[in-house]
Amino acid sequence: MVLRGGRVIDPESGLDAVRDVAVADGLIAAIGTGLPPGHSELDVAGQVVTAGFIDLHSHVSDLGGLRLEALDGVTTALELEAGVTPVADAYRRAAEQGRPINYGFAASWALARMEAVAGLPPEASLGAFMSRISSPAWRRPARPAELDALLARLSADLADGALGIGVLLGYAPDASPAEYLRVAGLAASAGMPTFTHARDLIELVPATAMDGAEEITRAAAETGAHMHYCHINSTSHRHIDRVLALVERAQAAGARISTEAYPYGSGMTGIGAAFLAPERLGERGLVPSSLTYAPTGERVASEARLRELRRSDPGGLVIIEQLDEDDPADRALLMRSLTFPGAVIASDAMPLTWTTGAADPLAWPLPATVITHPRTAGTFGRALRLLTRSGVRLGLAEALAKCSLEPARLLADRVPAMRRKGRLQAGLDADVVVFDPATITDRASYRHSTVPSAGIRHVLVNGSFVVRDGDIVPDSRPGRPVRAEPR
Ligand SMILES: [Zn+2]
Repeated sequence: MVLRGGRVIDPESGLDAVRDVAVADGLIAAIGTGLPPGHSELDVAGQVVTAGFIDLHSHVSDLGGLRLEALDGVTTALELEAGVTPVADAYRRAAEQGRPINYGFAASWALARMEAVAGLPPEASLGAFMSRISSPAWRRPARPAELDALLARLSADLADGALGIGVLLGYAPDASPAEYLRVAGLAASAGMPTFTHARDLIELVPATAMDGAEEITRAAAETGAHMHYCHINSTSHRHIDRVLALVERAQAAGARISTEAYPYGSGMTGIGAAFLAPERLGERGLVPSSLTYAPTGERVASEARLRELRRSDPGGLVIIEQLDEDDPADRALLMRSLTFPGAVIASDAMPLTWTTGAADPLAWPLPATVITHPRTAGTFGRALRLLTRSGVRLGLAEALAKCSLEPARLLADRVPAMRRKGRLQAGLDADVVVFDPATITDRASYRHSTVPSAGIRHVLVNGSFVVRDGDIVPDSRPGRPVRAEPR
């Protein structure tokens, strides 16, 4: 098949020119001018043709959510921050399910901790984490033998091809800094990265066991591990500049720290999270009405209602107003987390919540009663709009590198697939997105959270169309596993 006459952008080689792209057997067969006719031809004149986006932070496993990501240009969605343990179960289940886009998983410190510290049976799903999120049993300090068991589980996952270790540290603030260093040390010895949801910042919680940002940079310096600092925009609140300056100093001193951000001011998590306890909301300058409980769309009216929801549905998703997207100062902060050198765009895409009736995993288009955080559907379209057509105005290639090349490079050391993705070059995987640079944008909002992005014409995964002419190709499931090569 030949994509004819598009503007081909490959940030690695610097190519940005009108070219034809030939695709065969799942690979980019050739890039050039005047390529011979293919079995099929697609005129993509006026459109950008580039490598599909690689989302390092996606909690989505349902087909509808994966389709929203595909419609946002994502060809590989990886669950790295929460991770999934046992990781072999997660890979097996995804293969059985059949996915439209490529997938992969890190080991999960939180799920391993639930097993080792709370004695809960291992279950490889985000749902298992969410349903147990509020239980104090897994959050207490670990005894030495428990920590050994936890590390053994994580080691086994790394041996099974996990892409690193996801550490939801901010959800278990009683876990000790020493434990975190042991986890980072394990990652360093395996040559794999960690992906951390940071502990509280000292500005928010003066009594925190350690400042969350200091802890990540220290772990990188002391253990030599590659520490990936997840969603700097959301865990840093209005201290983004302080956190970025710290990261910059540590990077300059040789520590391996990478960062990511998503372009929204509000976060989302399970309402039972420790930091959403009524008595702790004030730490973040929040009140109950800063929270919107997604299943009903209600603003949480009072502390009593918050307690009730935390009890009845601890894993129920809740939108948390953090930065004010209508406030220019907050917007500028958010943009600095995106434009920080090397920061990649990562969505933190959330599972779908079916507010009426049982989930129908095959339903498409999604009914309007299905909700999520708009970042699930809109992160990449929104980031490209903001980075190239707002006041920031990065070059298109530079903005695209944050969506494809840089996330691929971040994992490439021990993940062979990441040397074949994130670039548009002959011989590499045909994960391709074709979009209109003048109109690409998000359309999902907090009220209408599952409206797909606009401006994206075609998405190919391993050479097969997943999105064609702006629509999902219903039975297309060409996604393949992305695994690490254990040392
Ligand atoms: Zn997180």
